Amino acid sequence: MMYISTRGNHEPVTASMAIRLGMVPRGGLFVPERIPVFTPEQLEALRGKSYPAVAQQLISPYLDDYSDNEITACLNWAYNEHNFSHPRIAPLYHLHDKIHLLELWHGPTAAFKDMALQLMPHLLSQALEKGEGRDELVILVATSGDTGKAALEGFSDVPGIRIIVFYPSGGVSRVQELQMTTTMGANTYVVAVRGNFDDCQAAVKDIFADRQMENRLGENGFALSSANSINWGRLLPQIVYYFWAWLQLTEQEGDGDAPPEPINIVVPTGNFGNILAAWYAWKMGLPVKKLICASNENRVLTDFFQSGIYDSNREFHRTSSPSMDILVSGNLERLLFAISGNDANRTQHWMDELKKNGVFQVDAATRQSLDRIIHAGCAGELETRGTICETYAKYGYLLDTHTAVGLSVYNKYRAETADTVPAIIAATASPFKFSSSVLGALRGEEKPGGMDEFATLKELSRLSGAPVHPALQDLQRKTVRHNLTCGKDEIGRTILEILSGR
Ligand SMILES: *Cc1c(COP(=O)(O)O)cnc(C)c1O
Repeated sequence: MMYISTRGNHEPVTASMAIRLGMVPRGGLFVPERIPVFTPEQLEALRGKSYPAVAQQLISPYLDDYSDNEITACLNWAYNEHNFSHPRIAPLYHLHDKIHLLELWHGPTAAFKDMALQLMPHLLSQALEKGEGRDELVILVATSGDTGKAALEGFSDVPGIRIIVFYPSGGVSRVQELQMTTTMGANTYVVAVRGNFDDCQAAVKDIFADRQMENRLGENGFALSSANSINWGRLLPQIVYYFWAWLQLTEQEGDGDAPPEPINIVVPTGNFGNILAAWYAWKMGLPVKKLICASNENRVLTDFFQSGIYDSNREFHRTSSPSMDILVSGNLERLLFAISGNDANRTQHWMDELKKNGVFQVDAATRQSLDRIIHAGCAGELETRGTICETYAKYGYLLDTHTAVGLSVYNKYRAETADTVPAIIAATASPFKFSSSVLGALRGEEKPGGMDEFATLKELSRLSGAPVHPALQDLQRKTVRHNLTCGKDEIGRTILEILSGR
């Protein structure tokens, strides 16, 4: 299986190379040249297998330059009861009336990014062994909070790789900061930057483009890479859990010989990665009726799927579902390329327009093909809080803010269409991860007054009768292991200092 560029500007590469490179060096994203299809019999044969065993079947065709043993080893490192606090890794919870929550937050940092970031570092480490270069890889991450911790946990002590995370000093919550600065692992580094998130992100991007830096690092045996969500190695692991959800669902329904009923999949969306994985699952043979793309007040995707015009020139809203506060959804490019019949010229044209003018428009035929499978909707802050409150009152289940956006949008879809096909809602974070917004919602306020984050964790635990998520327990008592800070213009120098061991 070779990987091609969505913009036709790179020769095809192997899976390990696509994962090593992250994105196409001259712009564009790597996609598999074809999508393997599983027959209904092959899907049935997945029943009764463990999560790693199901994953092995589904991802192997995409990774044909990895041996079976290499893939098995990577999967066993990632998906085990040490890293995940639930034996089923991603359990399905039946809320009511054919609505199921796929809990993707039992991993080490309490959000769904763990599902990919527990596996991808091992795939990358194996990819390095296949390469010619003997360089040590340095992963740079700029984070506004959550991705940094998930990446640190994933890369901690992975051979051949170091990871350096930059976050805005004072720009993340106390809990997020402690999560990062108490990280173990001899190959992890965390730096507070005197600046905001955009400063961190811009500086990291500049460093990737800096040839002089590349040379200096190369002389010392280091090469740079990134772990962000446009790397194929982060998308691939996410395909698995949609099949896993369907296997659990149809087992519960258990109606013997009836042909499999299709499902609807609802995904609260930011960079369009998680829902794109669901689209791949559908293409691979998962019986899906609709993919429901849920946005918060940053409704750029809702407008795009409704009008065919992607317009990022709009006001940016800070919401209580911050991981979805995005105006340029990087992974949409992959879907557009596929829907246009792998037309690199058209994809390039749309992306050029987006870069130049912040807006592009697709033709009617493209819109129709998107329409057949995707429904898009959005939920505002009040609706989101209302959904958290109502779900707790009626079913005693606590939703996080992102998952609540998903359920809000689904409820509206179901009311409008009377489509009652079973629905799987991707539950992307534990409610504990966004404890003050969740508690605020229960009390009908934006934030609960007079409580710090540690008090809100305790209170949520009391209300839900569930222990605080292990990722967030006892944070105050852990040892702070990282205390580097630097100015926003000193990021390059800091990297060199870290790598020279000073
Ligand atoms: C990252 C994230 C999302 C958005 O996922 P995308 O793949 O970027 O669409 C949604 N919810 C949570 C909790 C996240 O961390």
